[in-house]
Amino acid sequence: MAASGKFFVGGNWKCNGTKDSITKLVADLNSAKLESDVDVVVSPPFVYLDMVSSSLTDRIEVSAQNSWIGKGGAFTGEISVEQLKDIGCKWVILGHSERRHIIGEDDQFIGKKAAYALNEGLGVIACIGELLEEREAGKTFDVCFQQVKAFADVVPSWDNVVIAYEPVWAIGTGKVATPQQAQEVHVAVRDWLKKNISEEVASKTRIIYGGSVNGSNCGELAKQEDIDGFLVGGASLKGPEFATIVNSVT
Ligand code: PGA
Repeated sequence: MAASGKFFVGGNWKCNGTKDSITKLVADLNSAKLESDVDVVVSPPFVYLDMVSSSLTDRIEVSAQNSWIGKGGAFTGEISVEQLKDIGCKWVILGHSERRHIIGEDDQFIGKKAAYALNEGLGVIACIGELLEEREAGKTFDVCFQQVKAFADVVPSWDNVVIAYEPVWAIGTGKVATPQQAQEVHVAVRDWLKKNISEEVASKTRIIYGGSVNGSNCGELAKQEDIDGFLVGGASLKGPEFATIVNSVT
């Protein structure tokens, strides 16, 4: 519904794709009709970032799926923010649950990356979200607030931050949160921003939903007052379906 500015839809391609499949996906995206009033970002795997950034229409911005906490140098396997900017990347996804729970990144480490990226001018898609057992234990809000606070403690400004609420139990499982479940957390997070940062940040910061969003369920979710867009995994690998999700803006 984009209560807080322009609708924002990100496609997180994760560790998927080959030169061939990505060339096709870029061609599909380049020819797709996309609503003009939506910010659209795609996040390819690092090795294809440059190729996508140079072949994709300017209408769509490119995001990395991770970035290093500081300047480049002797950090084997890492990619610096400066290198990302050098190839035209505008955003980075940080705090994704796959990095928190599979790779083991904690709030503090994620916060350092976020602060560095923002200070250097990249936008940050800051992911938060609870595990199933945390939801079942009634801890959804506590977990989300703690993760937002970890970002809030370090970000220099909220201007280039988009919060992505992605319940871990909904990611890649086909079990999308109901529009009410998502709306409830989005409102709570917005309220937290209002109480702990400012009314202005609460009203301007986009809070997008992620977790099994597809071309069929995006419409109902997009109608919710506090859902300002989506972070899409699986369905972003199909150009036409991703376009449907972009165009679900209400
Ligand atoms: P999914 O992934 O749409 O495949 O559930 C979303 C995400 O992890 O960003």
